[in-house]
Amino acid sequence: MKKTIRDYDLNGKRVLIRCDFNVPMKDGVITDDYRIVSSLKTIQYAIDHHAKVILLSHLGRIKEESDKVKNDLEPVALRLSELLKKNVLFVKETRGEILNTVVSKMKNEDVILIQNTRYEDLDGKKESKNDPSLGAYWASLGDIYINDAFGTSHREHASNVGIASHIPSGIGFLVEKELENIEQVIANPERPFTVILGGAKVSDKIKVIENLVTKADYILIGGGMAYTFLKSKNYEIGKSLLDEESIEFCKKMLSQYPDKLILPVDHYVSDSIEGTGTLKSLEETSNNDMGLDIGDKTIHLFTDLIEKSHTVIWNGPVGLFENPSFQKGTKALCKAMKKVDGKTVVGGGDTASAVKKLGYQEVFTHISTGGGASLELLEGKQLPGINCISDK
Ligand code: AMP
Repeated sequence: MKKTIRDYDLNGKRVLIRCDFNVPMKDGVITDDYRIVSSLKTIQYAIDHHAKVILLSHLGRIKEESDKVKNDLEPVALRLSELLKKNVLFVKETRGEILNTVVSKMKNEDVILIQNTRYEDLDGKKESKNDPSLGAYWASLGDIYINDAFGTSHREHASNVGIASHIPSGIGFLVEKELENIEQVIANPERPFTVILGGAKVSDKIKVIENLVTKADYILIGGGMAYTFLKSKNYEIGKSLLDEESIEFCKKMLSQYPDKLILPVDHYVSDSIEGTGTLKSLEETSNNDMGLDIGDKTIHLFTDLIEKSHTVIWNGPVGLFENPSFQKGTKALCKAMKKVDGKTVVGGGDTASAVKKLGYQEVFTHISTGGGASLELLEGKQLPGINCISDK
């Protein structure tokens, strides 16, 4: 077990908290503060326990000098001040005399936010390539390091792995909640345990299938990725998404786990992604059809299994939800979640956006804040940003 922020006496300590403030911005204005709100619990805990709170985060990507202006973290400090109802001092640098002086003068319960850690990427990708001197420098500013940035925990950066290799460390409340709801749920699910996989490509999710097929009771396969499975069973899939190089993998999985992998039996098809859908059985599919959502019989089949489950994990929308004509399947699965007596978990990225866009976020036990990081947990991988944290 990893140490958490609760395992430390924070009184008077300089506590470095790596947050995920990678918020969407338009013209310097934050358009969605969900990630800032999600980090409040850990920051407030550190303030309440009389720490000197030093916050770090990345924002966007910094490849050239001109990327700096649009990825300046200052608006985050202002929004954070409003939410915490307390001054958050923004330090415009990622290192140097001014930052050192500000930190040396901090009093208990003060909060500062350091400039975007990826400003350091301009000079040899020091943050993203975990330059040892950068991690050591940031570590020198603190006594304790807390990782609360789940969304970057699958990366080995100076602001997580780099710092943690120098000072005592723990995870924050947000990371703890992600691990409890994904890693620990997979390790010890209440059964029946159903996994829903959708989205575009099989090849992106091969490792997820390999890991979860041995643990889940059912894997429901929808979305674009279902068509490579259907093709491997010789169905006509028309112009639907096909992942040629994964056909053999699909064949192998279906022969090893014929009762566990559940495929669509019908679908809504169109001749283009901008079109409207026509309901067809698999047998009726023509070579001009593009399958863009699961059909009504499939909805019935899938929702039946979901409603009987005591644990559901979902990664990948089951239709092209960006077009309202192909949202029916994804919406129906969201509705079925309300009837689950147990945990319902959504992986980050596109599935989280789909669920929020369709207005169903309230029905889930947990919606992950990290796309890549949650996918790696589903693959059964250990995340470097968590591995580096001190053990209990
Ligand atoms: P992923 O990032 O792999 O989870 O893929 C998400 C994307 O898959 C979304 O943009 C969906 O619109 C898309 N998607 C879901 N179902 C289909 C489908 N049947 N055909 C094409 N794209 C799909």
